Amino acid sequence: MCEFCLEHGEGRKWYLEAKNYGLDLLSDAKKRKAFKKYVGKPMGSGTQFHQQMEKLEKAPSFVRRMMRWKTVSTMKKVHYGQVVPIEDVERIFDFVNSIVRTSCLCRKLLVGEEKRYCYGISMGNSGSNNLADVFRELSPGFFSAPDSKGTEVVSKEEALASFREHEKEGLCHSVWTFMTPFIGGICNCDRPDCLAMQMTVTYDTPVMFRAEYVAETEPDSCDGCRQCMRVCQFGAIGYSATQKRSHIDPRRCYGCGICRSVCKKNAIHLKDRAKVPVAAAIW
Ligand code: SF4
Ligand code: SF4
Repeated sequence: MCEFCLEHGEGRKWYLEAKNYGLDLLSDAKKRKAFKKYVGKPMGSGTQFHQQMEKLEKAPSFVRRMMRWKTVSTMKKVHYGQVVPIEDVERIFDFVNSIVRTSCLCRKLLVGEEKRYCYGISMGNSGSNNLADVFRELSPGFFSAPDSKGTEVVSKEEALASFREHEKEGLCHSVWTFMTPFIGGICNCDRPDCLAMQMTVTYDTPVMFRAEYVAETEPDSCDGCRQCMRVCQFGAIGYSATQKRSHIDPRRCYGCGICRSVCKKNAIHLKDRAKVPVAAAIW
């Protein structure tokens, strides 16, 4: 269990707790003000992001440690994520009653294009309208650049079908808080286009937890095609030329399950992270 499961999930998976999607959490005036301040900050460009992160890499180690600690602790309060496999996305879609597709801020910033890979999720009779209103109020540019199609309400079936397509593109699903523990979105991420993945994996400043799972291969089923290696964004899969099989390092695996979806031999399954001793404490 990650620390959010203990703090916000009463020992169960925190993102499967319906109470964490209640808009009343975000309607708290203080929280809204803090979130508005956070997302209202100018985000700059992708180049500026890399320059800042590289500058930090060159800083003395005590400055790096302090800055990382400050960033991670702030993000845990404001906007933190976790990798989730498709079966948990489906469980989330089973109980939220409002899903809105919208553009991805990371892609807008890093690639300069509108890509509609992000999904706002919420509870309540008019959750979709409420959520869209909240985001509009928070920052005019948050989800609505001039060329944006804005938010679009989609059914659970449509959303799930899109997520399966995104999975075929090799995108990894992640669930996000907007003022923790309020959960407001699920995204479909890849490392070159996602600020959070870059901060977490490339710059060693974790702003998202690994999934509650770890992938494992079944050696007798694997034919060594290496398709799984092609899609793993975390460098967790190696290949043995001697055995002609792939192998997953549980200490590097984020548990996204994308390798599983491309394995034609059904040689990969996800296991509870807690049951894999070498990975159980790695988030
Ligand atoms: S995709 Fe499946 S069969 Fe191919 S190397 Fe990976 S685990 Fe083996
Ligand atoms: S090994 Fe599979 S489940 Fe683990 S991070 Fe890579 S793609 Fe995701």
